Amino acid sequence: NTNEMELIFDSRSANESFARVTVASFMTSLNPTLEEVSDVKTAVSEAVTNAIIHGYENEVHNIRIHCKTKGQTLYVEISDQGKGIEDVKQAMEPLFTTRPELDRSGMGFSFMEAFMDLLEVESEVGKGTTVKMAK
Ligand code: ATP
Ligand code: MG
Repeated sequence: NTNEMELIFDSRSANESFARVTVASFMTSLNPTLEEVSDVKTAVSEAVTNAIIHGYENEVHNIRIHCKTKGQTLYVEISDQGKGIEDVKQAMEPLFTTRPELDRSGMGFSFMEAFMDLLEVESEVGKGTTVKMAK
């Protein structure tokens, strides 16, 4: 028993809350706990913010969210076609940031990892980044 949706929106910070609420609303068919909903919202918010500020460096382009529920599991993929990540392993380390001057703490991927059951990052420099998560 599966259900799917796709959302494509402009990489404006004003759209971040809308994206997170949309994913939360999509997952209600799984009868999640409030904590599960809150965990997914946090993870989506971190990934979308990364696409906006790092992927597109605040230029406005498309962000795509693909969601699927299968059984009791939610799968979320968040993609940008921005600048990509040179070293994914290093980027995922706690406290690593390439933008300390923007007051970034380098904790986004750590939160995604902590709040979700699965986190995979695929990225190519000059092509973009896809963050795949499951809960
Ligand atoms: P914080 O999330 O705590 O504000 P941060 O965004 O720098 O700080 P992470 O979210 O963990 O920390 O990301 C680590 C680094 O990975 C970023 O500094 C950036 O260099 C790179 N990165 C993450 N997402 C993307 C993306 N979509 N496109 C390009 N680079 C990215
Ligand atoms: Mg971040």
